[in-house]
Amino acid sequence: MNNSNSPVVLVVEDDIPIQNLIITTLKTHDYRYLKANNGNEAVMMASSHNPEVVFLDLGLPDMDGIEVIKQIRSWSNMPIIVISARSDDADKIEALDAGADDYLTKPFSVEELLARLRVTVRRLALMKSDSSSDSSVYTNGKLKIEYSAGCAYLDGEEMKLTPMEYKLLCLLAKNTGKVLTHTYITENIWGKSWDNDIASLRVFMVTLRKKLEATPDSPHYIQTHIGIGYRMLKVD
Ligand code: CA
Repeated sequence: MNNSNSPVVLVVEDDIPIQNLIITTLKTHDYRYLKANNGNEAVMMASSHNPEVVFLDLGLPDMDGIEVIKQIRSWSNMPIIVISARSDDADKIEALDAGADDYLTKPFSVEELLARLRVTVRRLALMKSDSSSDSSVYTNGKLKIEYSAGCAYLDGEEMKLTPMEYKLLCLLAKNTGKVLTHTYITENIWGKSWDNDIASLRVFMVTLRKKLEATPDSPHYIQTHIGIGYRMLKVD
């Protein structure tokens, strides 16, 4: 089956068995795909074919995957999901700060890969619908934000948020589906990133979640990425 409406995924991976695993998974689930074995090829393919999503290995033979992200980001917002063998969080954070949307750590399961892809495709659909409809109002499940009024509602009730909680909620909402690093969030909220801002961020997140989530211990809206940051999920 080859649905011509299905998203095109560019797979950038020099490890052939892993490349084959990803491609087989994509084929089985009716995604279209392109492949690149190195960074130069990846940048070329991304610009000439304009794929919907990029799966990018960070350890490439000719250049660092971070450099590929920077080059693609100089002209495109296409979602980039980083695949990293390095379990070190610093690499993931660097990739996210360079403009990656999400990450997958090797070894990963096929289910995990598909889950990340689904989140990204939904983010893509959201971005497209946002540009065509009224972008001054945000809705996600029971959450609604009226940016112009500076108000957030949950299930029709106005949320009693502090200015900082509101700022944090808006930042996450405007980047629904994307993992935001602690540094990115604190820089956007406080203008600078300090270690104790990250500690303050955790505190604000706890109070925001108490107001937003029906079950703060197992949040629906805001996902925690331990050691990395947070992501607003699209809720049904
Ligand atoms: Ca590699």
